[in-house]
Amino acid sequence: MTTSTSPLRIIYIVGAGRSGSTVLDTVLGNHPDAVSVGELSNLHRSGWVNNEFCACGEPADGCEFWNEVRNAWLNANRGADVEDYLAMQARFERFRPAAMWRTEASSLFRTAAARRYLAQTGSLYESIAAVSRRRVIVDSSKTPLRARWLARLPGVDLRLVHLVRDSRAVAWSRKKSLARDLEGGVQHDLASRPAWYSVVYWTVSNLFAARLRRRAGDRGVLVRYEDFVSDPAGELVRIGDACGLDCGGLVRALESGESFSVGHTVAGNRLRMAGQVRLKPDWDWIEQLSESDRRTCWRLSGWLMKRYDYPQQAKAA
Ligand SMILES: [Zn+2]
Repeated sequence: MTTSTSPLRIIYIVGAGRSGSTVLDTVLGNHPDAVSVGELSNLHRSGWVNNEFCACGEPADGCEFWNEVRNAWLNANRGADVEDYLAMQARFERFRPAAMWRTEASSLFRTAAARRYLAQTGSLYESIAAVSRRRVIVDSSKTPLRARWLARLPGVDLRLVHLVRDSRAVAWSRKKSLARDLEGGVQHDLASRPAWYSVVYWTVSNLFAARLRRRAGDRGVLVRYEDFVSDPAGELVRIGDACGLDCGGLVRALESGESFSVGHTVAGNRLRMAGQVRLKPDWDWIEQLSESDRRTCWRLSGWLMKRYDYPQQAKAA
């Protein structure tokens, strides 16, 4: 049980987008000590500038939870401003391999702008903890660059869940285009991406995620999405060990077929807008991804897929 004096714990889901993090995030967010906030890195843009829909069904400006968080955050940081924070995010968080290497240089962390960004980011999590009355926050932003910064937050106990999914499933997910549907949780038209593009992104994201996870030692864990949906109870025990959470209650809820309610999330997969999620395997890509796209995926990422024990000839589990 965590108390109000426990250190703030952030469970950060790191990896490539379209890896199934919404489901994992939601399940963990149903732990009584935890609150799930979706892709927090998109809160300022999606919620506080674009006023997109929260999973509670309200546009962000009508959601009491995010209004309280915003007020607490602004009060805690004199002179804080949403646009200014977005500019800092663009500078420090936007995913570029060069930026990832640059954060290796500790001098970057000593600049005044970096200190301001860190202080405001830390107080965003503290504001969420205060409003939700939970000391464990599940953030599925996934970008490895953000995780590098969170590891620098004083007083924060960071746990990393590196979530990986078959690169061909990710390529298939990004191949489908989605039309804008505000209440359905799709805020802009999502263009179809070619397989090679998605796989390069998958590879770079997972290489950086793996590096961070290794550094986190026993506070980090590697989870394959496919294992999580086929044996969620077993995987939750491993995740719980790395995150310091007793997941027994979640396992029992899963085994009795309960669905899991989605918290106040303003950014993330459109699944969140259903208000609840159930775990179900998704093997669409096996039927749908073309032969030539599969070859592209394997040619570019097969070497890394093998490290994660994905077979070249996949079949639904
Ligand atoms: Zn809400």
